[in-house]
Amino acid sequence: MKPLTREQLEHCDRSAVWHAFTQMAEYEPLIIERAAGNTLYDLDGRALIDGVSSLWCNVHGHGHPRIDAAIREQLDKIAHCTSLGMSNPTTIKLAQGLVEISPAGLEHVFFAGDGAAAVEVALKIALQYWQQRPDPRPHKSKYVALGGAYHGDTIGAVSLGDIGQFHAMFRPLLFDVLRLPAPESYRLPPGVTRETAAAHYLAEMESLLAEHHDQIAAVVVEPLVQGAAGITMQPPGYLRGVRELTQCYNVLLIADEVATGFGRTGTMFACQQEDVAPDILCLGKGLTGGYLAMSATLATTEIFEAFLGPYEQSKTLYHGHTYGGNPLAAAAALATLEVFEEEQTLAHLPEKIARLEEHLVRIAKLPHVGDARHRGLMCGIELVHDRDTKAPYDWKERRGMAACRVAIEHGVFLRPLGNVIVIMPPLSISLDELDQIMLAAEAGIVAATAP
Ligand SMILES: *Cc1c(COP(=O)(O)O)cnc(C)c1O
Repeated sequence: MKPLTREQLEHCDRSAVWHAFTQMAEYEPLIIERAAGNTLYDLDGRALIDGVSSLWCNVHGHGHPRIDAAIREQLDKIAHCTSLGMSNPTTIKLAQGLVEISPAGLEHVFFAGDGAAAVEVALKIALQYWQQRPDPRPHKSKYVALGGAYHGDTIGAVSLGDIGQFHAMFRPLLFDVLRLPAPESYRLPPGVTRETAAAHYLAEMESLLAEHHDQIAAVVVEPLVQGAAGITMQPPGYLRGVRELTQCYNVLLIADEVATGFGRTGTMFACQQEDVAPDILCLGKGLTGGYLAMSATLATTEIFEAFLGPYEQSKTLYHGHTYGGNPLAAAAALATLEVFEEEQTLAHLPEKIARLEEHLVRIAKLPHVGDARHRGLMCGIELVHDRDTKAPYDWKERRGMAACRVAIEHGVFLRPLGNVIVIMPPLSISLDELDQIMLAAEAGIVAATAP
């Protein structure tokens, strides 16, 4: 194929590439040619700081020498072999590494390619577990999911999801779930305060479980922070309470840490902040440092053992993806874990988080900023029409997108969630770069909310 001119590239980017979550009728090509550290470079060599970690997945920066080398070394050995009845040393080491760093009891790792697949696998494991465990409970086949949930875009994950604009259309394809109101901290139900919020939401969860636990296979949550809902924050103690309730009512807890995992909230996993060990843990996004498609579903030994038995009993987990456990991706993931240790990534987060907070205090005072919230380096700034009533802007006004356009002009790539400006830089971000991100976001917000 002949090299394409810039015009041809832009033309084909519109005509041949169907971009995710993008209205192609109005898409304006933004073509990134390379990246280094926390910065992307477009075809003109224009630098853009990667303010959303290439959609929440980059961890240690782009072109990290340690991760690059690990992939190259792996390439000299083997790029891919199947995980169906076969293995390779890199994938084995990664599984062991994940078992070591994840909450206690999660000792068995199933690999897939995307976060959505990790969630699908979790749903199937939970259902099959109840059928096959020593004291089977075959009626436990329903799932509890939260308002505003997002777990990916495949049909099972969308069934759990509750983001109207993304999900409502597909209703005819979806299975029913038991839905609880979003346990968020900004728009509280009448009569509920920040102090009583956790107890309020937990009481709702308890009455649901008390009534339906016989039919419930699992409760599925994004721990601490619901990402695509708009970086919304669960009240402190909520996650811990959900763990206690699920134990009390004999229901599995599936924690979807696809977004929150790998240091994003300040600890390696969000669950660890409330000393919670789920029964099933879904990982993705940051797993390979943002390099390659890979996800993982971890389960406890109690669950795993329900799938063991003579072949004829058919207790096998009949689920798999062609590239599950891919050695190249595993090499990137293993190197990502090693960099966490070598660079003491988590130990360096508090000063970055403190710097983020300094900026948020200032930004929170802007007249149309309703809420400037964060957990670790997962941050959402919600623009509202009216601060007092918390009345949102009409989504059709696209205020968030307008703010991010201005940020891009200031050299920072941001992508909003509706009226929420998302700030989620790589954990390797420098204080200087963080300043630039926050100043660009502020400039964008001021411009997009000007009367
Ligand atoms: C992004 C995301 C997913 C889906 O991951 P994909 O790799 O995009 O399929 C699932 N759950 C959460 C919480 C996410 O943020």
